[in-house]
Amino acid sequence: MLYVCQRHHARVLHHDLRLEVAGVLVSWAVPKGPSPDPSVRRLAIRTDDHDLAHATYEGAYARDGSRPGSVIVWDSGTYDHLTTRAGTPVSAGDALADGHLVVDLHGRRLSGPYALTRTGEAGGKEQWILVKMRGPGVEAGADPARDGLTSVLSGRTNAELERAFKPSDDVR
Ligand code: MN
Repeated sequence: MLYVCQRHHARVLHHDLRLEVAGVLVSWAVPKGPSPDPSVRRLAIRTDDHDLAHATYEGAYARDGSRPGSVIVWDSGTYDHLTTRAGTPVSAGDALADGHLVVDLHGRRLSGPYALTRTGEAGGKEQWILVKMRGPGVEAGADPARDGLTSVLSGRTNAELERAFKPSDDVR
């Protein structure tokens, strides 16, 4: 199944973690981005499902008036769904409904097992915690969401896309 993490410069910069489940990209906005350090817990706010085609979307757009916003594909690849309940595998759909999901990422920047756990709700949105699990892909002390600014597809940064953007380019 598809895994993608986009770096989205909107009103507030965040990363959008998206996982293919049952034909759509189930999505979370991660204000500080994912961390490969198991001691770091990152808030992840469940957002609307997106079409699979969004997995390769990047570009700039008119955010408010003339100020551009932008999206780059910060990481992409595939994932395996690993959630179990009492030792028995459950479907990703059931795991989402239960509020606990374990995934093994195979991305360019992130790899290995991560856990997503629902902790509650605020402002009508589900609040989850995203945390790296021990095993492959651990990078103690690293913060690629802070330090990695380029697209894994194009090599471009959000700032580069925004500098090249003209409002007349906006085709949404
Ligand atoms: Mn977003």
